[in-house]
This record gives sequence, structure tokens and C-alpha cells, in this order.
Amino acid sequence: MTEPIRIELPTMYGMKSVNAYLFLNPEPVLIDCGEKTKASWEALQSALSVYNLAIKDLKKIIITHAHVDHIGMAGRIVEESGAEVWVNKYCYDWAVDTDQMWKRRMVMMEKHILGDMPPNGDGENFKKMLFSFMGAVMDAWDTLPAEKVHTFPMEGTLKIGDGDWQIIYAPGHTNMQTCFYQKEKKWLIGADMLLSITPTPVIEFKLDDPSKRQRGLAEMLQSFEKMKTLEIDTVFPGHYEPFSNHRRLIEAQVRRIHMRKDATYELIKDGKNRFYELFDVLYTNRMNMPGMSMLRGYLDLLIDENRIEESIEDGYTAYHLV
Ligand SMILES: [Zn+2]
Repeated sequence: MTEPIRIELPTMYGMKSVNAYLFLNPEPVLIDCGEKTKASWEALQSALSVYNLAIKDLKKIIITHAHVDHIGMAGRIVEESGAEVWVNKYCYDWAVDTDQMWKRRMVMMEKHILGDMPPNGDGENFKKMLFSFMGAVMDAWDTLPAEKVHTFPMEGTLKIGDGDWQIIYAPGHTNMQTCFYQKEKKWLIGADMLLSITPTPVIEFKLDDPSKRQRGLAEMLQSFEKMKTLEIDTVFPGHYEPFSNHRRLIEAQVRRIHMRKDATYELIKDGKNRFYELFDVLYTNRMNMPGMSMLRGYLDLLIDENRIEESIEDGYTAYHLV
């Protein structure tokens, strides 16, 4: 069985690069495909040329989750190659109706991020940053023609290259994420579930109720437990280099999450009650979107543990000890 070939593509995100994985046999297949940018297109072209392939030779693209750095260029590749795109059912609407899904997600981001920024210049600056970021995302992501998009099941196996891979639903970073596990070889295509840096749960709506926010960090902790039960020799992550020792990595990341959560609790105890007051102390960079998601997550966990409660004070979310 052949190992996935890692192709590193540039991304607009702070991580700087995202991985696509190429399988050559029996036909050229890509897992994830980067953003639709000139730099990404050229990087893919040159990586494929090593195997005497061009983008037009790609037959299939399998998507782990519908984030711009993993799916953005799929539309452009389909145009060139006529490749078929496979996604899980939760990614389907994002693939074929991207604008609509983004509008829904923006409602969540405006409410749970912008809505809790202080009424001064920082809030305005953050709003500008968020909207310009959104613009960049939309530019780098083409909606796919529905006739080219197919869904694979949330469990069972998927043929990738010359092997059978177990499909593993792994919500947390996003509630539409799947990983692929090759049992005989103990390989995991980990998407953004297992990364050398702690993955960030993005602010998004619940799948069964788009009016509510998904509690991503709590889900991520559950998915970490699921990942720990797997025997894995090599993780092929969505970003950076493949690695092993996934259990040690998970334990370190979970430990840090609980440490930051407890630090959040101490701040609330000391009288920092508003989201932005907490954010100010925990994150020195005010324009830190992943930080905002993480803080939402720590607060969710503290509420779940019944240590704090949430209320609205003067229009802002406030937290107090139970
Ligand atoms: Zn990613």
C-alpha cells in the first residue's frame, strides 16, 4: 500500500501552509486541495509535475472539512480536470452553496465575537479585520457545481488510492470534519484534528440548529479521546509535517487547555467578568481570532463544569462564579 504523498500549499492563515495529500494509484486522487490563489495553483502544479502529472490529470478530490484552506481551490481544479469531488454530508452545503453558509456563519461570528467587543476603537478595528478577512476567504473559495459533488458516509470505509480507509467523524475544530484511518498501516489522515499546535475550534452554528452556536472545544476534547483509542504510527496532519506519538501530543494539548481554562476561572474570580476583559488579559494581541474561539471554549467548559454562569449585563456577556 502506498503512503499518501504530502504536498504543501500556501495559505492566508497564520500557519502559512496547508497539506494536500496525493495518491497515485489506481488514479490520481487528492485529499484536500488548498486555497484558490495563484501561489497555491503553481505550488500544486509543480508538486504534481514531479510525478509527471498535471492538474488536468486529477480524477478525484476528497475533502476532510469545508474550510477555505482545504476546499477553496476545488472548484478551479474541477474546471480544469473535470475531477469528481467527495465530501461528507455536513460539508455538502458548504461545497455547493458556499455564500449562503457563510452568511449563516457570519451571524454567529457577529454575535459571539463582535457582539462582545468593547464599545471603543478596538471593537471597530476588529470588525474591519473580520470583514476584510471574510473578503479574502470568499476570493479564495469557489462554489462547486452540484453535479460534481458526491457524499461519502460518516462511518465505514472509503477506498483511497489502493487501500481501504476507515472514516472517522472528528468534530471539534469544526463540526464537519472527518479523518481517515488505515488500520493495517496505522496511518491517520488527521485533517485539523491532530496538529502539532493545538487546533482551534472555530465559531460556527450547530448542525441541527443554525440559530445556536456549536460548543466546539467540548466536542474537541471528546474527539481527542476517540483519537487516543486508535493505534497510530503516523499522523498525516492538515498542516505541517507528519508525526507519531499522537497520544503524548494529545495529553500535552489537553493539559494546556485545562490550564488556560483554570486561568480563566481565576480571572473571573478576581472580578474580570466581561468577555473582553478576560480576553485582554489572556491574549496580548487584540486581533487574535483563534484566541477568541479558545476563550469561548474555556468559558463553555467552565459552564459545563457548573463553576461559572453566563448572563447579559448592559448588552455584553458577563460571567460570574456559581
Ligand atoms: Zn486547516
